[in-house]
Amino acid sequence: MSEESPSSVSFSDFSLNDRLLEAIEGLGFETPTPIQAQAIPFLQQGRDLIGQAQTGTGKTAAFGLPLLGQIDTSRRNTQALILAPTRELAIQVARALKQFAAKMPGLLVTPIYGGQEYGTQLKALRKGSHIVVGTPGRVMDHIRRGSLKLDGLKTMVLDEADEMLSMGFVEDIEWVLGHCPDERQTILFSATMPSRIRSIAKKYMQDPQQVIIEKRTSAATTIRQRHWVVAGLNKLDALSRILEAETLDAVLIFVRTKASTVVLAEQLAERHLKAAALHGDMPQSMREHTVKRLERGQVDLLVATDVAARGLDIERFSHVVNYDMPGDPEAYVHRIGRTGRAGRVGNAISFVVPRERYLLRGIERITKQPIEAMKLPSADQLNRKRITDFKQSINQIVTEGELDPFIGILRELCEEESLDPLEMAAALAQKAQGKVPLLVRDIVVPTRKPDRPRSGSARPQRVRPEQGMARYRLAVGLDQGAMPSHIVGAIANSSGLQGRHIGRITINQDHSLVDLPEGMPNEIFQLLKKIRVCQIPMDLSLVSDKSTTPDRKSFGPKNHAKRTAFDPKSRSHQKTRNHKRRVAGKR
Ligand code: AMP
Repeated sequence: MSEESPSSVSFSDFSLNDRLLEAIEGLGFETPTPIQAQAIPFLQQGRDLIGQAQTGTGKTAAFGLPLLGQIDTSRRNTQALILAPTRELAIQVARALKQFAAKMPGLLVTPIYGGQEYGTQLKALRKGSHIVVGTPGRVMDHIRRGSLKLDGLKTMVLDEADEMLSMGFVEDIEWVLGHCPDERQTILFSATMPSRIRSIAKKYMQDPQQVIIEKRTSAATTIRQRHWVVAGLNKLDALSRILEAETLDAVLIFVRTKASTVVLAEQLAERHLKAAALHGDMPQSMREHTVKRLERGQVDLLVATDVAARGLDIERFSHVVNYDMPGDPEAYVHRIGRTGRAGRVGNAISFVVPRERYLLRGIERITKQPIEAMKLPSADQLNRKRITDFKQSINQIVTEGELDPFIGILRELCEEESLDPLEMAAALAQKAQGKVPLLVRDIVVPTRKPDRPRSGSARPQRVRPEQGMARYRLAVGLDQGAMPSHIVGAIANSSGLQGRHIGRITINQDHSLVDLPEGMPNEIFQLLKKIRVCQIPMDLSLVSDKSTTPDRKSFGPKNHAKRTAFDPKSRSHQKTRNHKRRVAGKR
């Protein structure tokens, strides 16, 4: 059966016990998804199974329902172990299994993962958890401590095996499999089948049945996919416009790095949007808190990295935005599968910088689905919406508000000052609006971008750098959404240079120019070359044009500015050294 065709079987065709049938009916599952229709009968026969299916296809119920049917609740031991690549997926799978087991009293499901203190997990395991869902590292810890005993294990599931492989867990998986009883059912789910996964399957599985669900997931067909080629407006402004113009519930915004999740969430919050970051370095309790806030509607925009978002199953996501493009088509399919869940219509919008167009073409080729080009909402469209919203809000206050005390005061004011009531209403509207203008101006897409002097100076840009400064070129510009603050931030944070040492910044279409103190030591130069601005390596190079670098030979501590900026004893330079050490330590 292909993923596209509706399933002709029903859940009652499987010999699932009534309690499971009741629970899934309560969840609103009407018919089995294709992976469920294909996998459940084999799993009920006790066969090993390899399921090639993506997230969003209903794979959790595909392995979860037969697995739950086999649990003997009269015994207090671990009968099924599920390995998942991330804490989020482990929690998500455990939650889904608990929902399926809602009518099975006494059945215990425990998620165990790194980042959570051991106490809770040990307590749950001591009670004799029937099903354990865990991340490989923490599962190994518990096996070593003896707190997780696998002698009664009947079923072992590897969920998102390719993800575990790419996260470097492959040896851990083999270690855990080596500690499971030989007599067991092994189930492996993976979106892709790299050779290493195939060889694990060969080594640890017995005559596995294969079920392949086409890449075009049912979720994906209910997702409207669009892309915007980044030009004329930086990504942040473009995102703000899109968020304002689209009808949306919650939005999952993907960025490439942990640092960008925080930066973008802050930038959105500054624009009075309910945004939060989610990344792998956040303590687990904070991540769970953020997800809860999202579910409760206290947060509408979640800015996340791929790893942090894995396993998130939140029906509120009406949109996924690829603020930074994913590196490959698989990651793209995974990302957009977070919207359009459980039959809802979803939206995926990707920001593509011109040099990433090849990625877009690759995704279209592999998913066999076009990703339509979109135009940013025009100022006119936004303004019409703003005016309608404005009128509606006034109307609502007129209908529902307690206006009497104000009517008296305003009548008095009108009489005293001989004011036109309309003029007075407009003055009140302006007061309520504050400094932010009600209407936006049209997006101007210049063919060649005007230079942007950093300090508001209107001097021509071919001006030579100031005495003691040299001009450098950065391989990021307007096309990449670069702004002076990004450049200052990146240079200051990584070089230890202070903001006051960073001179004129000019942002052009595909590159920028920045004046920095002469005498930059080679180690800092090399470090800066690798630093990223807007996720793109800045690839710093000294501008060779002599008219802009009058004193290129004068490298070395020659004047005060240079000495202060690059003084090895200065705090800022120390910061650079520390940064370098950290970078080296990570390698
Ligand atoms: P999964 O791929 O297991 O993460 O499931 C994706 C989503 O589909 C989850 O929200 C499930 O609750 C939902 N789901 C799974 N099976 C069905 C089904 N047969 N009918 C409707 N929704 C389902």
